[in-house]
Amino acid sequence: MSEQPTDTLRIHGYAALKPGPRLMVLGGVHGDETCGSAGIERAAAELDAGFLQLRCGQLTMVPVANPLARRLGRREGERNLNRLFRPSPPGIEAADYEGRITDLLCPLLDRHEVLLDLHSFQSAGEAFAMIGPRDNAGTLEPFARAFEEGQLALHLGTSRVVEGWLDIYAAGLAQRAGGQPADDAALAFGWGTNEYMRSRGGYGVTLECGQHQDPAAPEVAYRAILSALRLLGMVAPDPLAAPPVRPSLLRLVSVTDRLDEEDQFVREWATFDPMAKGEPIGVRADGSVLEAVRDGFIVFPNSAALPGTEWFYFAVASDRDLSRPPLSGGA
Ligand SMILES: [Zn+2]
Repeated sequence: MSEQPTDTLRIHGYAALKPGPRLMVLGGVHGDETCGSAGIERAAAELDAGFLQLRCGQLTMVPVANPLARRLGRREGERNLNRLFRPSPPGIEAADYEGRITDLLCPLLDRHEVLLDLHSFQSAGEAFAMIGPRDNAGTLEPFARAFEEGQLALHLGTSRVVEGWLDIYAAGLAQRAGGQPADDAALAFGWGTNEYMRSRGGYGVTLECGQHQDPAAPEVAYRAILSALRLLGMVAPDPLAAPPVRPSLLRLVSVTDRLDEEDQFVREWATFDPMAKGEPIGVRADGSVLEAVRDGFIVFPNSAALPGTEWFYFAVASDRDLSRPPLSGGA
């Protein structure tokens, strides 16, 4: 099964007469992740029925961002939609299916300022939110909306928030290239939906709603959409809502590739399993043992990773406080 001429993106759009924030919600960027699609369909049905009313601003929701991957029931169609997420240069046709989808989604994202991207993951584990860099004027991913992004993550109701992605991705590329800093083209591959949104002056949070098959994940996705709408003042506040519980904050510090099909974990890991320094994580094909280099947590362990791709990430406790605006001058 491949691309069909009938493939279309379904886009639910709601615009209140009163101006306000512009929120975009994506589901199904990865085809085997269905919770976001279910959460979006439920929110759309409530908006259509009038149970939920948009008070201001604009809300756009795409329940299945990658229809080909969804039809296949796989993470990817021809490739990972959440990489190389940049529009094709003018006059140049996208090289593949996901490139054509990206060319449709980017102009849509350009009309919004906030992105909530709903995902799920392979290993067992609890839902968590992922945010980007702290405010900075660097070249890799300059950013000035870390506080707003952190506030959104804080209100999505997960017990954990993970920061950092592109810097770890860049470091991983450099590692693969024997220490050479990654060039722009290679780095562009690390761009997902949120990186694109930040590059356009907006901000974005990825919500990992739970394991792919977790029956609770669609509810996590649905509640997150409502929480985002409430936080942004786009729907009426919930008088019964409890204040957000402060999540524990982790920072990604490294990514380790699987190099060989014989590379094996020492046991089945779940995302956020804690690790003590020196603890064995996996055994390489040559018999060498990979150990935790410091105390921390394993994230996205993927025992089915293809050789040459990400096997697992490592995170440590972060000192960032999402509830406070940055000191002037940033950090
Ligand atoms: Zn995903």
